[in-house]
Amino acid sequence: VGHRAARLRSLFTQKYPPVKFLSEKDRKRILITGGAGFVGSHLTDKLMMDGHEVTVVDNFFTGRKRNVEHWIGHENFELINHDVVEPLYIEVDQIYHLASPASPPNYMYNPIKTLKTNTIGTLNMLGLAKRVGARLLLASTSEVYGDPEVHPQSEDYWGHVNPIGPRACYDEGKRVAETMCYAYMKQEGVEVRVARIFNTFGPRMHMNDGRVVSNFILQALQGEPLTRSGEWPRGSHEQQRQQPRQPGSGSEIQFLSEAQDDPQKRKPDIRKAKMMLAWEPVVPLEEGLNKAIHYFRKELEYQANNQYI
Ligand code: NAD
Ligand code: UDP
Repeated sequence: VGHRAARLRSLFTQKYPPVKFLSEKDRKRILITGGAGFVGSHLTDKLMMDGHEVTVVDNFFTGRKRNVEHWIGHENFELINHDVVEPLYIEVDQIYHLASPASPPNYMYNPIKTLKTNTIGTLNMLGLAKRVGARLLLASTSEVYGDPEVHPQSEDYWGHVNPIGPRACYDEGKRVAETMCYAYMKQEGVEVRVARIFNTFGPRMHMNDGRVVSNFILQALQGEPLTRSGEWPRGSHEQQRQQPRQPGSGSEIQFLSEAQDDPQKRKPDIRKAKMMLAWEPVVPLEEGLNKAIHYFRKELEYQANNQYI
């Protein structure tokens, strides 16, 4: 019987990725808003595997249950379908506030909702942090720099954002979210952290995200021309749009006209993060692209197999 019980137990525990044991004093109760999204689900994996108790709050606007389904039923994990624009009363030690659409087609789909999520949603999470004495990290963005006039961008550059342009709901929403974090820190003593994330890619990113890396991968896998927007190369003209060039990669390139307020160039100055946090990217470009390509292939297969369900 003991043997059978052990087998049953191991069958049960094998269902989940390996989780470290943490003593009660080291184990934190962590809220991740937007935890069913691309970045949030990887963070969920990391914190779960480190042995913490993780509560994911998500309204599934762009996130998916599939991204965190491997944790459902685990005693340290909870998934709550909730919109951060509504107040939330739970008890936690730390908050990672990631809830917000992230790519232009997603955040432009309903600009008012994007603004509410980043303003009212952030206010609610700061109110929660204040009430329970939790530290809050805001997932901000390189978009706070707008179309920058300074390269590379360091933390003290204030940015160059069009406040009434098509991207403003996101850019200004995140800028105000940052402002709120520092107001709650100064006025209420809430401990806050702000991470300005630059364009990130990898497994679980949305295939139809509309950003350059996902577009190029999807187009290449489907044998379609790679769409390049922005300034047309010297000597290019209308004809080139109809007869795309044929580069060595095997994919054609189709030139599109420039999107309004699209940043021309952006690159983070990571010297301070390196010096103070010992942070730097660890996944080389090619390895990261291969991981993303592998994921996209699997997703296309999954979609092909499930299209009649
Ligand atoms: P994502 O769209 O995959 O994840 C966002 C998640 O937030 C989704 O699961 C979505 O359903 C959820 N969400 C949206 N509105 C919500 C609401 N009102 N209430 C509850 N949940 C809501 O995007 P991502 O790439 O994982 O981005 C995560 C965070 O990082 C975002 O705040 C984004 O602005 C920031 N960011 C991402 C990048 C990037 O390159 N991926 C770059 C800069 C900043
Ligand atoms: N809030 C929340 N969860 C909490 C505490 C507050 O969602 O546990 C929300 C609350 O609805 C309020 C917002 O956070 O609208 C800001 O809270 P704060 O206490 O800073 O402001 P006040 O309630 O005094 O306006």
